[in-house]
Amino acid sequence: MMEAQVNDPAGMELSHLRVVLVETTHPGNIGAAARAMKNMGLSRLYLVNPARFPHADATARASGADDLLAKAVSCASLDEALTGCGLVFGASARLRTISWPQVDPRQCAGMAAAANGNTEVALVFGREHAGLTNVELEQCHYLVHIPANPAFSSLNLAAAVQILAYEMRLSLDTEAAPPVKLDRPDTTLATADELAGLYRHLEQTMIDIGFLDPARPRQLMRRLRRLFNRAHLDRMELNILRGILKAAQARAKDSSRG
Ligand code: SAH
Repeated sequence: MMEAQVNDPAGMELSHLRVVLVETTHPGNIGAAARAMKNMGLSRLYLVNPARFPHADATARASGADDLLAKAVSCASLDEALTGCGLVFGASARLRTISWPQVDPRQCAGMAAAANGNTEVALVFGREHAGLTNVELEQCHYLVHIPANPAFSSLNLAAAVQILAYEMRLSLDTEAAPPVKLDRPDTTLATADELAGLYRHLEQTMIDIGFLDPARPRQLMRRLRRLFNRAHLDRMELNILRGILKAAQARAKDSSRG
Protein backbone atom coordinates (compact mmCIF):
# COMPACT_ATOMS: atom_id res chain seq x y z
CA MET A 1 0.00 0.00 0.00
CA MET A 2 1.50 3.32 -1.05
CA GLU A 3 0.85 6.43 0.93
CA ALA A 4 1.21 9.97 -0.27
CA GLN A 5 4.47 11.56 0.83
CA VAL A 6 3.51 13.72 3.79
CA ASN A 7 6.03 15.78 5.65
CA ASP A 8 6.17 14.80 9.33
CA PRO A 9 8.08 17.34 11.42
CA ALA A 10 7.77 15.04 14.46
CA GLY A 11 9.64 12.39 12.49
CA MET A 12 12.57 14.80 12.18
CA GLU A 13 12.56 15.33 15.92
CA LEU A 14 12.65 11.59 16.54
CA SER A 15 15.49 10.92 14.13
CA HIS A 16 18.03 10.47 16.97
CA LEU A 17 16.16 7.33 18.05
CA ARG A 18 16.95 3.82 16.92
CA VAL A 19 14.96 0.70 17.68
CA VAL A 20 17.11 -2.41 18.16
CA LEU A 21 15.50 -5.86 17.97
CA VAL A 22 17.70 -8.62 19.36
CA GLU A 23 17.51 -12.11 17.79
CA THR A 24 13.88 -11.89 16.78
CA THR A 25 12.47 -15.32 15.93
CA HIS A 26 9.34 -14.45 13.96
CA PRO A 27 9.84 -12.26 10.88
CA GLY A 28 6.20 -11.17 11.21
CA ASN A 29 7.12 -9.40 14.44
CA ILE A 30 9.87 -7.48 12.66
CA GLY A 31 7.34 -6.27 10.09
CA ALA A 32 4.78 -5.35 12.75
CA ALA A 33 7.45 -3.48 14.72
CA ALA A 34 8.40 -1.51 11.58
CA ARG A 35 4.78 -0.59 11.08
CA ALA A 36 4.40 0.51 14.71
CA MET A 37 7.50 2.67 14.34
CA LYS A 38 6.43 4.29 11.09
CA ASN A 39 2.97 5.05 12.48
CA MET A 40 4.64 7.09 15.22
CA GLY A 41 7.28 8.74 13.01
CA LEU A 42 10.29 6.61 13.98
CA SER A 43 12.38 5.31 11.12
CA ARG A 44 15.64 3.70 12.20
CA LEU A 45 15.47 -0.05 12.73
CA TYR A 46 18.48 -2.20 13.74
CA LEU A 47 18.31 -6.00 13.72
CA VAL A 48 20.75 -8.12 15.70
CA ASN A 49 20.94 -11.65 14.24
CA PRO A 50 17.28 -12.06 13.24
CA ALA A 51 16.35 -15.75 12.75
CA ARG A 52 14.77 -15.13 9.34
CA PHE A 53 15.08 -11.83 7.49
CA PRO A 54 14.25 -10.59 4.90
CA HIS A 55 11.07 -12.66 4.81
CA ALA A 56 7.63 -12.42 3.16
CA ASP A 57 5.92 -12.41 6.60
CA ALA A 58 7.92 -9.35 7.61
CA THR A 59 6.91 -7.49 4.45
CA ALA A 60 3.26 -8.54 4.84
CA ARG A 61 3.02 -7.39 8.46
CA ALA A 62 4.84 -4.13 7.71
CA SER A 63 1.96 -3.30 5.36
CA GLY A 64 3.38 -0.12 3.91
CA ALA A 65 6.35 0.31 6.24
CA ASP A 66 8.56 -1.81 4.00
CA ASP A 67 10.81 1.21 3.42
CA LEU A 68 11.91 0.82 7.06
CA LEU A 69 12.62 -2.86 6.46
CA ALA A 70 14.61 -2.06 3.32
CA LYS A 71 16.93 0.29 5.19
CA ALA A 72 17.06 -1.76 8.42
CA VAL A 73 20.66 -2.20 9.60
CA SER A 74 21.68 -5.83 10.21
CA CYS A 75 24.19 -6.31 13.01
CA ALA A 76 26.17 -9.30 14.24
CA SER A 77 26.07 -8.22 17.88
CA LEU A 78 24.30 -5.85 20.26
CA ASP A 79 27.60 -3.98 20.67
CA GLU A 80 27.61 -3.25 16.98
CA ALA A 81 23.97 -2.08 17.02
CA LEU A 82 24.71 0.33 19.87
CA THR A 83 27.74 1.94 18.24
CA GLY A 84 27.48 5.70 18.62
CA CYS A 85 24.65 5.63 21.21
CA GLY A 86 25.00 7.76 24.33
CA LEU A 87 21.77 6.69 26.00
CA VAL A 88 20.43 3.12 25.89
CA PHE A 89 17.13 1.75 27.23
CA GLY A 90 16.47 -2.00 27.46
CA ALA A 91 12.79 -3.00 27.38
CA SER A 92 12.05 -5.82 29.78
CA ALA A 93 8.84 -7.68 30.55
CA ARG A 94 10.19 -8.96 33.83
CA LEU A 95 11.42 -7.15 36.86
CA ARG A 96 14.89 -8.53 37.25
CA THR A 97 16.59 -10.12 40.16
CA ILE A 98 19.59 -7.90 39.50
CA SER A 99 18.77 -4.35 40.45
CA TRP A 100 19.25 -1.92 37.61
CA PRO A 101 17.97 1.64 37.22
CA GLN A 102 14.41 1.39 36.01
CA VAL A 103 12.04 3.81 34.30
CA ASP A 104 8.52 3.63 32.90
CA PRO A 105 7.78 4.39 29.22
CA ARG A 106 6.86 8.02 29.89
CA GLN A 107 10.04 8.73 31.81
CA CYS A 108 12.00 6.95 29.10
CA ALA A 109 10.42 9.14 26.41
CA GLY A 110 11.07 12.29 28.43
CA MET A 111 14.73 11.41 28.82
CA ALA A 112 15.05 10.50 25.16
CA ALA A 113 13.50 13.83 24.16
CA ALA A 114 15.81 15.72 26.52
CA ALA A 115 18.84 14.00 24.97
CA ASN A 116 17.85 15.09 21.48
CA GLY A 117 20.33 17.32 19.73
CA ASN A 118 23.61 15.77 20.80
CA THR A 119 22.96 12.17 21.79
CA GLU A 120 21.89 9.09 19.88
CA VAL A 121 19.32 7.05 21.80
CA ALA A 122 18.61 3.31 21.47
CA LEU A 123 15.53 1.36 22.53
CA VAL A 124 16.47 -2.32 22.77
CA PHE A 125 13.93 -5.16 22.62
CA GLY A 126 14.57 -8.82 23.43
CA ARG A 127 13.71 -12.23 22.01
CA GLU A 128 10.08 -13.39 21.96
CA HIS A 129 10.73 -16.34 24.25
CA ALA A 130 13.63 -15.27 26.39
CA GLY A 131 13.76 -11.45 26.39
CA LEU A 132 17.16 -9.86 26.97
CA THR A 133 19.97 -11.60 28.85
CA ASN A 134 21.43 -9.98 31.95
CA VAL A 135 24.64 -9.34 30.03
CA GLU A 136 22.66 -7.48 27.34
CA LEU A 137 20.74 -5.55 29.96
CA GLU A 138 24.03 -4.41 31.49
CA GLN A 139 24.80 -2.69 28.20
CA CYS A 140 21.76 -0.47 28.81
CA HIS A 141 21.69 2.60 31.04
CA TYR A 142 18.11 1.91 32.08
CA LEU A 143 15.62 -0.88 32.06
CA VAL A 144 12.20 0.25 30.80
CA HIS A 145 9.19 -1.76 31.93
CA ILE A 146 5.69 -1.27 30.54
CA PRO A 147 3.32 -1.55 33.51
CA ALA A 148 1.12 -4.60 32.94
CA ASN A 149 -0.81 -7.34 34.66
CA PRO A 150 1.84 -8.86 36.94
CA ALA A 151 0.47 -12.32 36.25
CA PHE A 152 0.74 -11.78 32.47
CA SER A 153 3.24 -9.02 31.87
CA SER A 154 4.87 -10.09 28.62
CA LEU A 155 3.51 -8.15 25.64
CA ASN A 156 3.95 -9.17 22.04
CA LEU A 157 7.22 -7.71 20.80
CA ALA A 158 5.62 -5.34 18.26
CA ALA A 159 3.01 -4.25 20.82
CA ALA A 160 5.84 -3.28 23.18
CA VAL A 161 7.54 -1.35 20.36
CA GLN A 162 4.21 0.38 19.66
CA ILE A 163 3.80 1.60 23.23
CA LEU A 164 7.31 2.99 23.50
CA ALA A 165 7.13 4.59 20.05
CA TYR A 166 3.81 6.21 20.99
CA GLU A 167 5.34 7.65 24.16
CA MET A 168 8.24 9.00 22.11
CA ARG A 169 5.79 10.83 19.88
CA LEU A 170 3.73 12.08 22.81
CA SER A 171 6.86 13.46 24.46
CA LEU A 172 7.18 15.97 21.62
CA ASP A 173 3.97 17.60 22.79
CA THR A 174 5.42 19.57 25.67
CA GLU A 175 2.00 20.44 27.06
CA ALA A 176 1.01 16.80 27.36
CA ALA A 177 4.41 15.82 28.72
CA PRO A 178 6.58 18.49 30.29
CA PRO A 179 10.21 18.09 29.24
CA VAL A 180 12.42 16.06 31.54
CA LYS A 181 15.69 17.63 32.52
CA LEU A 182 18.79 15.53 32.02
CA ASP A 183 21.61 16.44 34.40
CA ARG A 184 23.94 17.06 31.50
CA PRO A 185 21.99 18.46 28.58
CA ASP A 186 24.85 20.24 26.81
CA THR A 187 27.65 17.71 26.79
CA THR A 188 28.32 14.91 24.37
CA LEU A 189 27.86 11.73 26.34
CA ALA A 190 30.33 8.89 25.89
CA THR A 191 28.91 6.34 23.46
CA ALA A 192 28.17 2.67 24.15
CA ASP A 193 31.28 1.57 22.23
CA GLU A 194 33.50 4.03 24.11
CA LEU A 195 32.08 2.75 27.40
CA ALA A 196 32.65 -0.86 26.32
CA GLY A 197 36.31 0.07 25.70
CA LEU A 198 36.52 1.65 29.15
CA TYR A 199 35.07 -1.45 30.83
CA ARG A 200 37.53 -3.75 29.05
CA HIS A 201 40.41 -1.48 30.04
CA LEU A 202 39.18 -1.26 33.65
CA GLU A 203 38.80 -5.02 33.94
CA GLN A 204 42.29 -5.65 32.55
CA THR A 205 43.83 -3.00 34.80
CA MET A 206 42.19 -4.45 37.90
CA ILE A 207 43.67 -7.82 36.96
CA ASP A 208 47.11 -6.24 36.33
CA ILE A 209 47.17 -4.49 39.70
CA GLY A 210 45.96 -7.60 41.52
CA PHE A 211 42.55 -6.23 42.54
CA LEU A 212 40.46 -8.62 40.45
CA ASP A 213 41.02 -12.36 40.35
CA PRO A 214 39.71 -13.47 36.92
CA ALA A 215 39.00 -16.89 38.42
CA ARG A 216 36.65 -15.31 40.96
CA PRO A 217 35.20 -12.18 39.30
CA ARG A 218 32.02 -12.14 41.44
CA GLN A 219 29.71 -9.23 40.64
CA LEU A 220 32.45 -6.64 40.38
CA MET A 221 32.13 -5.64 36.71
CA ARG A 222 28.35 -5.51 36.92
CA ARG A 223 28.51 -3.22 39.93
CA LEU A 224 31.08 -0.95 38.27
CA ARG A 225 29.07 -0.74 35.05
CA ARG A 226 26.06 0.30 37.06
CA LEU A 227 28.12 2.97 38.80
CA PHE A 228 29.48 4.44 35.56
CA ASN A 229 26.12 4.22 33.80
CA ARG A 230 24.64 6.32 36.57
CA ALA A 231 27.29 8.99 36.05
CA HIS A 232 26.52 9.58 32.33
CA LEU A 233 30.20 10.16 31.54
CA ASP A 234 31.10 12.60 28.82
CA ARG A 235 33.97 11.94 26.48
CA MET A 236 36.53 14.04 28.34
CA GLU A 237 35.78 12.32 31.65
CA LEU A 238 36.09 8.95 29.96
CA ASN A 239 39.50 9.91 28.59
CA ILE A 240 40.68 11.01 32.04
CA LEU A 241 39.67 7.63 33.47
CA ARG A 242 41.47 5.80 30.68
CA GLY A 243 44.57 7.89 31.32
CA ILE A 244 44.50 6.90 35.00
CA LEU A 245 44.12 3.23 34.07
CA LYS A 246 47.04 3.44 31.67
CA ALA A 247 49.26 5.00 34.32
CA ALA A 248 48.24 2.32 36.84
CA GLN A 249 49.06 -0.41 34.33
CA ALA A 250 52.47 1.12 33.64
CA ARG A 251 53.24 1.22 37.36
CA ALA A 252 52.11 -2.38 37.83
CA LYS A 253 54.42 -3.43 35.02
CA ASP A 254 57.38 -1.51 36.49
CA SER A 255 56.92 -2.94 39.96
CA SER A 256 56.57 -6.49 38.66
CA ARG A 257 59.92 -6.04 36.86
CA GLY A 258 61.66 -4.39 39.75
N1 SAH B 1 9.36 -14.16 27.74
C1 SAH B 1 10.13 -12.97 27.65
C2 SAH B 1 9.28 -11.87 27.08
C3 SAH B 1 9.69 -11.50 25.76
S1 SAH B 1 8.57 -10.44 24.97
C4 SAH B 1 10.63 -12.59 29.00
O1 SAH B 1 10.16 -13.11 29.96
O2 SAH B 1 11.49 -11.71 29.10
C5 SAH B 1 9.68 -9.74 23.78
C6 SAH B 1 10.23 -8.38 24.14
O3 SAH B 1 9.16 -7.43 24.17
C7 SAH B 1 10.88 -8.28 25.50
O4 SAH B 1 12.21 -8.74 25.50
C8 SAH B 1 10.80 -6.78 25.75
O5 SAH B 1 11.85 -6.14 25.06
C9 SAH B 1 9.46 -6.43 25.14
N2 SAH B 1 8.39 -6.45 26.15
C10 SAH B 1 7.36 -7.30 26.27
N3 SAH B 1 6.59 -7.00 27.34
C11 SAH B 1 7.15 -5.89 27.92
C12 SAH B 1 6.83 -5.09 29.06
N4 SAH B 1 5.79 -5.33 29.85
N5 SAH B 1 7.64 -4.03 29.31
C13 SAH B 1 8.71 -3.75 28.55
N6 SAH B 1 9.06 -4.48 27.47
C14 SAH B 1 8.29 -5.53 27.15
